[in-house]
Amino acid sequence: MTIKKRIVIWYTIWMALLVVIASAVLLSGSGALIRREAIAEMEETVHDAAEDIRIRAGHLVFDDDIDFFDDGVYFSIWQDGTVIDGRVPDTIGTFPPSSGGVSSVDGEEGLWYCFDLLLGEGYALRGAVRAYDMGAVASSLQLLVLLLLPLLVVLAAFGGYFIVRKAFQSADRVIESAGEIAVSDDMSKRIALSGGDDEIHRMAASFDLVLDRIEEAFEKERQFTSDASHELRTPISVILAEAEYAERHVGEDEKIRESLGVIARQAGKMSRLVAELLMIARSDKGTLKMVPERFDLCELVSVVLSTLEEEAGERGIALSVKGPEHMWVEADQDMITRVMINFVSNAIAYGRSGGWVIVRLSLSEGDAVISVEDNGIGIGREHLGRIWDRFYQVDPSRSSGRSGAGLGLSIVEGIAKAHGGSVSAESEEGQGSTFTFRFPAERPG
Ligand code: ADP
Repeated sequence: MTIKKRIVIWYTIWMALLVVIASAVLLSGSGALIRREAIAEMEETVHDAAEDIRIRAGHLVFDDDIDFFDDGVYFSIWQDGTVIDGRVPDTIGTFPPSSGGVSSVDGEEGLWYCFDLLLGEGYALRGAVRAYDMGAVASSLQLLVLLLLPLLVVLAAFGGYFIVRKAFQSADRVIESAGEIAVSDDMSKRIALSGGDDEIHRMAASFDLVLDRIEEAFEKERQFTSDASHELRTPISVILAEAEYAERHVGEDEKIRESLGVIARQAGKMSRLVAELLMIARSDKGTLKMVPERFDLCELVSVVLSTLEEEAGERGIALSVKGPEHMWVEADQDMITRVMINFVSNAIAYGRSGGWVIVRLSLSEGDAVISVEDNGIGIGREHLGRIWDRFYQVDPSRSSGRSGAGLGLSIVEGIAKAHGGSVSAESEEGQGSTFTFRFPAERPG
C-alpha cells in the first residue's frame, strides 16, 4: 500500500472515531442539558412573575398586570390546592402544588414540566411548560450532528487525499527520473525537479547534489585511466624495443636470452593492456570515435579466421562461416576486426578440444548481425551479466593457454556504443556460447 493511502486512511479513521465519540457525548448530553436549561428558564420566569405579586392581609395584590402566558410558560395561581386565577393547560389536570418545586406531568398530548413557587399563606404560583418543544430542539441538534459531522469527515478525507496526492506527484516524478538515470549511461542527467520548495523538492535537490559528486568522481577516474595509460605508453615501448634489441645481440648466453625474451613478452602484454585501457577510457568519455569506411564484412571475417586458424588447429577446433558471399557495410574496419578477433579467439580459448566455432553473418532490419557460436565450456548464469565488466573473468584458469585481462568484452561493448549498435551473449554452462554483435550497416546521411 502506498504511503499516500496509508496517511489518508489513518487520519480518516481517527477523525471518524473522534466524530463518533463527540456525537455520542453531544447527543446523550444535549437532551438533558436542554431540558435543564428550559426548566431553569421556566423557574426564572416564575420567580420574575412572583416579584409582582404580594400578599397583603391574606389577599393577593398584583403590582403589575400579569400575563398568564409568557415565553411558552402557562401561569396559574393557587390557593389551598385550588386554582383561583391564570391559565392551566387542559391536559395536565389540576393536581395541587403541595410542596413546591419541579414536577413532570404526563399529559394527554405529551410530557409537561411544572414549577410551583409557594408564596405563603396557602398561595402558590405555578408555571407549566410543554416538554416536546425541548425534544424538537434536541432532535434538530441531533440531526445537525449526524449529518454535518460525517460530511465534515468526508470533506477532510477528500481534501487531505488531494493535498497528499499533489505532494506525492512530485515524489513520483523523482522516482521516475531516478529510474531513468539508473538505466541510462548519461552521467550528466539530473532529476531537476522544479516548481516548489517542499520536502520532496529539497530531497530531489539533494539527490542531484549527490549525482554531481558521483559524476565528478567518475570523471576523475576516467581522467586517471586515460592519463596513466598515456604516460605508460612511452616507457613500455622503450622497454619492449630495448628488450628485443638486447635479445638479438646478447650472444650465446641462453639464460640471459631467456630472461630478455620474458621481459619482451611481458612488455608486449603490458603494451596491449595499456592500449586497451586507453580505448576503454575513450569509450567512457564518449571520445572513442569510429572512422567509417565501406568494406566487405565477409572478406574481413575470412581474413580474421585465417589469422586464427593456427590457434584453432592446435586445439582441433573447426572454424566455419555461414552467410552471404558478400556483405557491404559502413563501419570502422579496425574496430570490427577487433570485435571479430575477440569473439573468435574467446570461442577458441573457451571452446571444446575437437569442437567447432561457427560465425554467422546476416542483415536484419538494416543491421549487420555477426554471431559467433561455439560448443565450449559455456558461462554460468551468475556470471553472464558481468562478463562485459572491465577486468571481469569468470575464472582465468578456464582458458586454454591464453592469458587475457578481462578487458576484451568491455572494449567490444564500447565499440558497439561507438557504432550505435549492441552486443549480447547467450550461454549454457557446459554446452557452449553465442556472442552477437549488431550495428547499422549503413551510416545515416
Ligand atoms: P578475457 O581476456 O578473460 O577473455 P573477455 O572480456 O574477452 O576477457 O571475456 C570475459 C570473460 O568471459 C572471460 O574471462 C571468459 O570467462 C568469459 N568468456 C568470454 N567468451 C567466452 C566463450 N566463448 N565461452 C566461455 N566463456 C567466455
